[in-house]
Amino acid sequence: MKYGLLLFDEPKRDTSRKIIHIDMDAFYASVEVRENPKLENRPVIIARHPKETGGRGVVATANYEARKFGIHSAMSAQKAYELCPHGAFVKPNFELYRDTSIKMHDIFRRYTNTIQPLSLDEAYLDVSHNKIDQISATIIAERIRADIKRELNLTCSAGVSYNKFLAKIASDHHKPDGITVIPPDKAHDFLMGLPIEKFHGVGIKSVEKMHNLGIYNGQDLFDIEELDLVKQFGKMGHSLYRRVRGIDDGEVNNDREPKSIGKESTFSDNLTSENDVIKALRLLAKKVMFNLKRKQKHGKIVVLKIRYENFETITRRKSFPDYIKNEEELFQIALSIWEEETEQMGVRLLGITVTGLESVIYETIPLPLWRNSYSERIMKSDED
Ligand SMILES: [Mg+2]
Repeated sequence: MKYGLLLFDEPKRDTSRKIIHIDMDAFYASVEVRENPKLENRPVIIARHPKETGGRGVVATANYEARKFGIHSAMSAQKAYELCPHGAFVKPNFELYRDTSIKMHDIFRRYTNTIQPLSLDEAYLDVSHNKIDQISATIIAERIRADIKRELNLTCSAGVSYNKFLAKIASDHHKPDGITVIPPDKAHDFLMGLPIEKFHGVGIKSVEKMHNLGIYNGQDLFDIEELDLVKQFGKMGHSLYRRVRGIDDGEVNNDREPKSIGKESTFSDNLTSENDVIKALRLLAKKVMFNLKRKQKHGKIVVLKIRYENFETITRRKSFPDYIKNEEELFQIALSIWEEETEQMGVRLLGITVTGLESVIYETIPLPLWRNSYSERIMKSDED
């Protein structure tokens, strides 16, 4: 008798899609070298010089010359200086990197509109159907690499396969300035030999745990029962069981980016006390902040909407120089707008919206914030 648990159904492999992962090589550093040829062949470290900052500050990225000295992103600039005192420290210019990223995306869109950016310098493209009716994803990837080289004077690495997981691993395989193709019939062998630390999504802590369990490569992982993986690694175990079998159904997600995220409540009994309003605003702030975090967005503009019992509706907005950080801050802002604007009680509806949103992943947060999980992500994503 077969038990009806979905977990134990043998997963099926879908090899019908064509996915490309593009990853720029040492992106920030390469852009700086392009802008300033004097930096060519020198170790370039994207960070303010520790002498300027009194030793504070963190390396955003380093070019390959600098990496030879053991310098890597998220390292303290002071440490980088000790390892390579003659290296060129360059203050990051995120506006320039963002502009360059926009130009990259213009190139991507010649081939497909199904693009999912992971950071400024990395994106998935689904070219199963594409604008040039090219059946070979490899040819498209080569054309994109050539366009980027010719028009932006930068190099990138590309991975080509039938899902995102494999495409991402592939782009890392011949880096820098390389392309790796993993066709469906090569995926199994490729994965079996892959060191466990190269499995995208397995963090440093999990790698340690894997090693303790005797898992060093894909083959070791492949040999473990799904239930045991789930026991050890929870949800990630489930996903690893599939990934090591070459299965990843995640779509290249090109959802239009929301420009604002908000929440409003209509009250069945009009709110008549300041206390009720405070309670309602707190709850709204909590919900809005939850959704912002889930979508990895943040914004600097807060809009408060109030509808009174006579149906008079007012909306008031306030802009701030910095991104709203948390629920408490959002609540305090909403409350301050309420206090400034309100002349009457009897509230039918309240709404809080944060607008002018930008992706947290788009490196708009001020540096350094390295203990913040978003920036760790950014650091990781620009590692290469
Ligand atoms: Mg990169």
